[in-house]
Amino acid sequence: MHFQNTLEYAQHLDHQDPLRSYRNKFIFPKVNNKEVIYFTGNSLGLQPKNAKNYVDEIMTDWAERAVEGHFQAEKPWWDYHERFSEKLAPVVGAKASEVTVMNTLTVNLHLLMVSFYRPTSQRFKIIMEEKAFPSDQYMIASQVRFHGLDPEEAIVEVKKREGEQHFRTEDILQKINEVGEECALVLMGGVNYYNGQVLEMEAVTKAGKQTGAFVGWDLAHAAGNVELKLHEWGVDFAAWCSYKYMNAGPGNASGCFVHERHHGQEDIPRFEGWWGHNKERRFLMEPQFQPEPNANAWQISNAPVLALAPYLASLELFESAGMPALIEKRNKIVAYLEFILKEVAGKVGANFEIITPKERGTQLSVFLHGQGKELFHYLMENGVVTDWREPNVIRLAPAAFYCSFEDMWRFGQVLKGYFKK
Ligand SMILES: *Cc1c(COP(=O)(O)O)cnc(C)c1O
Repeated sequence: MHFQNTLEYAQHLDHQDPLRSYRNKFIFPKVNNKEVIYFTGNSLGLQPKNAKNYVDEIMTDWAERAVEGHFQAEKPWWDYHERFSEKLAPVVGAKASEVTVMNTLTVNLHLLMVSFYRPTSQRFKIIMEEKAFPSDQYMIASQVRFHGLDPEEAIVEVKKREGEQHFRTEDILQKINEVGEECALVLMGGVNYYNGQVLEMEAVTKAGKQTGAFVGWDLAHAAGNVELKLHEWGVDFAAWCSYKYMNAGPGNASGCFVHERHHGQEDIPRFEGWWGHNKERRFLMEPQFQPEPNANAWQISNAPVLALAPYLASLELFESAGMPALIEKRNKIVAYLEFILKEVAGKVGANFEIITPKERGTQLSVFLHGQGKELFHYLMENGVVTDWREPNVIRLAPAAFYCSFEDMWRFGQVLKGYFKK
């Protein structure tokens, strides 16, 4: 594609964009009375305009019906979470029965590890990537210690090669084969939060399964961003937060995937609660737990409907736009952003190194050789919201739902302005 760094050209791309109307379904913060250029949808997605209505609906039901709202609300609360499965399944490439929404991400990974990290004296190792998101490091190390094992021995990290900024699939596969029959679990981030790399989840899953291990994915930066086929790939379990690309609001509930091969097992190790009990018999208050025949068996508590409401509003947008269209726009807008970055860097003589490899989703991580936090602050003051990662990286993630090609062009103008100061 032959891009141009002009306003007319950017507007032409917006005009051709089949998803352009979605921008208007989100609320943009303002700086200097102008809507910001928002590059941090990978950290906290913007608020869908409909989110508030969905929360209000529950507040009203609560006021007017109180306890009756559990069964008689417009969207009854007792099975509110079940509304998510059909809508979330296509986002992650799953059957509806394999998907549920509950708790928060790290909590869910802990709960899923109860089922899928069952170390024995022969098979006890966990393979993960080096410098994983800190919560994953803490979570995995604490699980290992919980089983009375030593993280130094039980955790095997796949490393980047000297001088390289991304993981090589061949190195991941080799590590899995090397650990072989000692491997109890492969658990990695599907999209790396720092460099934006999309791992080859299908190949890694296959290799992990071949050793006889369980394979799970932290999809915090993958859900709503990249194509996922969790069912087809044979992934055992996965979880993701909903506040990044899923636009469900700060700290909101996490989605979970459990492959259907693990459903309907009464004897699987699992931390259980009444919301995982056979829903037809839940209120009979029986002593014996009967799991739901699907991923809902991992539910514990009654659904936090006030939190779930904005997630539902957001998922309806995913349902109407569809992941294929979002991915197509993502590819184009990220390519345009890359073009603008290189164009401007060339003009002003700056060295911006994109450390994100070609296996990428929405995010470009840019190493700012010779530029520091001053540039980051300048961008923020001029209405460009990015984030800073030590030592010298800004992450730019133009979410396909609400970022425009014109935003990318305007960003280039702000960047140029910095060097003209
Ligand atoms: C954002 C993120 C988390 C956050 O976990 P919470 O439990 O939702 O606070 C975890 N893992 C990864 C890889 C993330 O990017």
